[in-house]
Amino acid sequence: MAEVLVLAEHTADGEVKKVTLELLTAARRLGAPSAVWTGPGAEAARARLAEYGAEKVYLADSADFASYVAAPAAELLAWLVAEKAPAAVLVAGTTEGKEIAGRLAVKTGSGVLTDAVDVTAGPDGRPVAEQPNFGGAVTVHSTVRTGTPIIAVRPNAVSPEPSPGAAALEPVAFAASAAAKATTITDRVPAERGERPDLTEAQIVVSGGRGTGSEEGFKIIEKLADALGAAVGASRAVTDAGWYPHAFQVGQTGKTVSPQLYVAVGISGAIQHRAGMQTSKTIVAINKDAEAPIFEIADYGVVGDLFTIVPQLIDEIEKHKGM
Ligand SMILES: Cc1cc2nc3c(=O)[nH]c(=O)nc-3n(C[C@H](O)[C@H](O)[C@H](O)COP(=O)(O)OP(=O)(O)OC[C@H]3O[C@@H](n4cnc5c(N)ncnc54)[C@H](O)[C@@H]3O)c2cc1C
Repeated sequence: MAEVLVLAEHTADGEVKKVTLELLTAARRLGAPSAVWTGPGAEAARARLAEYGAEKVYLADSADFASYVAAPAAELLAWLVAEKAPAAVLVAGTTEGKEIAGRLAVKTGSGVLTDAVDVTAGPDGRPVAEQPNFGGAVTVHSTVRTGTPIIAVRPNAVSPEPSPGAAALEPVAFAASAAAKATTITDRVPAERGERPDLTEAQIVVSGGRGTGSEEGFKIIEKLADALGAAVGASRAVTDAGWYPHAFQVGQTGKTVSPQLYVAVGISGAIQHRAGMQTSKTIVAINKDAEAPIFEIADYGVVGDLFTIVPQLIDEIEKHKGM
C-alpha cells in the first residue's frame, strides 16, 4: 500500500496534538500513514500515533526544529519525499503547517492544496481535497497533477477515528542546511489564554460581534464561553474597536475555525466573517435582527436581544451541569 507522510504536530513536551490524529485518519483513506516526528518525545507519543493508524514513525530528533522556523521541517519532508516516494504528504492547515507546505512544494516541484476540509481517494487513486472557496460560497474538489500531492488540512475538519497501526520507529539522521538556519528563534513567550481551549482547536467556539456594544458588553461572551468550556472568538468590528485582541478575530483576515459548535452572538454574518467559520459543524446565531445574514447559514437561530438571551442560556447550561 502506498505510504502517506503525516507531519505530526505536538507540544514542546511531546503531547500529540489532536490535528495529528485527524491527519492520520485522513491519510488512512489514501494509503498507509507514516508519521513524521520532529524533535524529542516520539517514544512517549508512539502509542498514541499507533492508536490512530501510523504504520511507521520517522523520527528526526534534532534540536534544529526548536531553534529555527519552518524551514528545517520542509527540508526534512523534502528529503523523505525523495527517499520514500510517498503517495501524498499531509500537514495541518495551521499558519506554520501552510508555510511548511509551501516550502515543500517549491523544493519538490509539487502542487500544494491548502485549507482542505476533507480528503478522499479519487477514482484514479489520487487524493482529492475538498476546499471552501470565495469565503465558502463555492466548494471545490481539487487534485494535484504535478509531483507529490501536498495537502494542508484544516484542524477540526476531519473526525479522528482510531484504527491500530504498528508505529514502527525509524530514526532519520537529519541536520538542517545553513540556508534553513537563516532565521533563529531567540525567545518563546507562551500566549496568555488562561483555562480556555485554543481557538483553532476548540470543539466549541463562542464569538461576539458589534452587537455586544462595548468592551464591557463583550464580557458576556467570555461568560457564555466559560459556561460551555469553549474558546472565545470575535468579529473584526470588535477587534478593530479594541474590545478584544486581534488574535481572537475569526474570518478572512483572522483565524479559520471549524468546531463542532459555533455560537455567533451579535454578529451580522458578513462574508468575510463567514469565511472563517462556516465549515463549523453546527452554527447557532443570536441576533436581534431576523434579517441578519448569519441566519442564512445558522442551524439554529434565536432572534432577540443578546443581553436578555445569553444570561438565560448561561443559567440553563449551569442548571444542566448540576443535574
Ligand atoms: C478585506 C476585509 C477583510 C475582513 N475580514 C474580516 C474578518 O476576518 N472577520 C470579520 O469578522 N470581519 C471581517 N471584515 C469585516 C466585515 O465585513 C464586517 O464589517 C464585520 O464582520 C462586521 O462585524 P459584526 O458582525 O460584529 O458587526 P455588524 O455587521 O455591525 O453586526 C452587528 C450585529 O449585531 C446585531 N445586534 C446589535 N445589537 C444587538 C443586541 N443587543 N442583541 C443581539 N444582536 C444585536 C445587529 O443586528 C447586527 O446584525 C473584513 C472586511 C474587509 C473589507
